[in-house]
Amino acid sequence: MPAFKDFEGQSAHIARLHREFSARAFSHAYLFAGPEGTGKRSVARLLAMAALCERGMDGPCGECGPCRRVLADTHPDVHTVQPEKGKRDITVGVMRSVLDEVNVHSFEDGAKIFLIPDADKMNSQAQNSLLKTLEEPPENTVFILSTARPAALLPTVRSRLRLVRFHALETAAAAKRLEELGFPAERAAAAARLSQGCVGKGLQMDEGMLERRRQLSAALFGVHGVEDIPAVTDAYKDEKLDRAQLLSDVEDIVRDVMAAQAGALKLEETVYPDGARDYAARVPLSGGVKLMGAVQTAQQMLTSHVSFQGVLETILLEIAEEYGQWPW
Ligand SMILES: [Zn+2]
Repeated sequence: MPAFKDFEGQSAHIARLHREFSARAFSHAYLFAGPEGTGKRSVARLLAMAALCERGMDGPCGECGPCRRVLADTHPDVHTVQPEKGKRDITVGVMRSVLDEVNVHSFEDGAKIFLIPDADKMNSQAQNSLLKTLEEPPENTVFILSTARPAALLPTVRSRLRLVRFHALETAAAAKRLEELGFPAERAAAAARLSQGCVGKGLQMDEGMLERRRQLSAALFGVHGVEDIPAVTDAYKDEKLDRAQLLSDVEDIVRDVMAAQAGALKLEETVYPDGARDYAARVPLSGGVKLMGAVQTAQQMLTSHVSFQGVLETILLEIAEEYGQWPW
């Protein structure tokens, strides 16, 4: 189980929040704002445990009944507000049933906690329906809204929330944290940089994902001339492939290459040894910029009627062209 101290680098308010919730002296509504993967949800859940833990002020213990129920998402006084299955938005219908709960007595010992982890998914009707409760909150009730896009909330809602900012870690600190969480050193370093210091995102970068990207990098930058293009489009023609994800992987690879081209990263520090290092050594940053442009064009083409082969060719032609201009 994570502990509060694990998140102190990501927000300056962790210790104070811990004290407030342990003493049940919380404000009635918080807005946790910061990039994806910076600990907002984990901290919100820890705070719920701290408020409900049976074992006193040093909690949460993670072992008592209430703690276990929070961890298992079965505590009757902790409500997580999410869109209905298959829907993108949190609708006013969802909010109404949540607000009905606000006025019901708590089941266990008084505190009622409402977590809204993707608060930006509330549409404006849903947000408006929350206003009155935020204005006159029942006692011992707390809302914790989290979002990476606080601007998606109505100003009237935002102004009624206590803002707590969460930040990404420096790359070295993120790598250290990922190592503590069990990543081998090399993968921790790569994941820390790819996730731009957002540990939660870095955690999703498992060995399979890095290996997939290494192969992709080798394929892309193995295109030294137009004659090499068909082999690559062939290798990625599977209909079941997540194409948006593939292009997002390409974008991350190219961003890494550009960092090396700009001198922000030593060549041997780039994540993708196969192909990408050769390209970064040979082609100047101006080529990387053009390549990133081609990747973005390809991403737009994905929603058009162009075949995926054509979409990939946009990128591969750009690589072949730059290689042609900067021979060994
Ligand atoms: Zn406990």
